[in-house]
Amino acid sequence: MTDNINISKASNLSKYLDLPQHGAVLAEYIWIDAHFNIRSKCKTLDKKPTSIEDLPEWNFDGSSTDQAPGHDSDIYLRPAAIYPDPFRRGDNIIVLAECWNNDGTPNKFNHRHECAKLMSAHEKEVIWFGIEQEYTMFDESDNPVGWPKGGFPAPQGPYYCGVGTGKVFARDVVEAHYRACLYSGINISGINAEVMPSQWEYQVGPCEGISMADELWMSRYLLHRVAEEFGIKISFHPKPLQGDWNGAGCHTNVSTKSMREPGGMKHIEAAIEKLAARHKEHIAVYGEDNDMRLTGRHETGSIGSFSSGVANRGCSIRIPRSVAKEGYGYFEDRRPASNIDPYLVTGIMTETICGSIPDADMVEETKRGEEEGF
Ligand code: ADP
Ligand code: MN
Ligand code: MN
Ligand code: MN
Repeated sequence: MTDNINISKASNLSKYLDLPQHGAVLAEYIWIDAHFNIRSKCKTLDKKPTSIEDLPEWNFDGSSTDQAPGHDSDIYLRPAAIYPDPFRRGDNIIVLAECWNNDGTPNKFNHRHECAKLMSAHEKEVIWFGIEQEYTMFDESDNPVGWPKGGFPAPQGPYYCGVGTGKVFARDVVEAHYRACLYSGINISGINAEVMPSQWEYQVGPCEGISMADELWMSRYLLHRVAEEFGIKISFHPKPLQGDWNGAGCHTNVSTKSMREPGGMKHIEAAIEKLAARHKEHIAVYGEDNDMRLTGRHETGSIGSFSSGVANRGCSIRIPRSVAKEGYGYFEDRRPASNIDPYLVTGIMTETICGSIPDADMVEETKRGEEEGF
């Protein structure tokens, strides 16, 4: 990685980081702004909190983040989850917070509140999610990392799960992020280099209920912070480069307790029928610019129609081959884009899957493919 201003600062900083804190705990409060960017500010606590209830509510200027008008700009940060801080270490923590308005209503961009209500309403179903977060790395001049300046690398083929110089890029960032997630208690389940050069994926899950979206947001925060130290920008755009390059998604794997038990396939099929009936409503919260990605090419289904199939990567919904064979397990919704708010996506999935059965006339025809993908 090239030297940059952040790296040289970090090495000068190291001796200060060793200074004793005299019992103070640094709590970095993070929240989601109006554009799905993460913001953060830090607060000194005089002792280590043992639970969320020990943490003070805080506030920020919402007019600077497009979350509130200037004349009524205070937004309140209500702590929702605590994670160990892999950057400051020791007793220091990162606090994921919900945004609330002055009048006691959830902020317009606080989608966690509604999601948490849906999760607790359907708690009995013990819903699990696993999200595959894809992302693309750019250098400080906005070139995809490793791409020739002003040109293109060789076509896709050698990069997916690639090994060796010229086939993978910025592995250091990926490795550092993996360790940071583990340190913070994120249930990160794997990583792989993607089909497009400089694009990577990591998986978080299975996680139950609200913890899925909490942990995914936290993992994104950690990724931005790690990449900052390497002078790399992380893009979650679903089609960061036009042309014959794969887009980036957030495949969302899901199961309820009954789907995970022998005979679960009939519950998986019932869930897919319900999803078919609400394709448009789901697409509406499955990410901005997702139309650029869901073209029916590059291992996607097309945005205008719903389809499902076993082992078919050109469908909206894929049932993994192993699940079809065993007759129970989980399924994958391949439609969500990399830039989703996972609170919206896991929320609507829970609402649809755990809700009542839709009117049979409303169910769009579902195509069933049997093609083997990779
Ligand atoms: P793919 O073959 O689509 O690339 P991955 O291995 O990248 O699949 O991701 C599979 C995801 O499925 C992981 O995030 C994992 O946590 C999740 N998963 C596995 N079992 C379940 C389950 N029973 N319910 C929900 N998610 C699951
Ligand atoms: Mn994957
Ligand atoms: Mn992938
Ligand atoms: Mn997948």
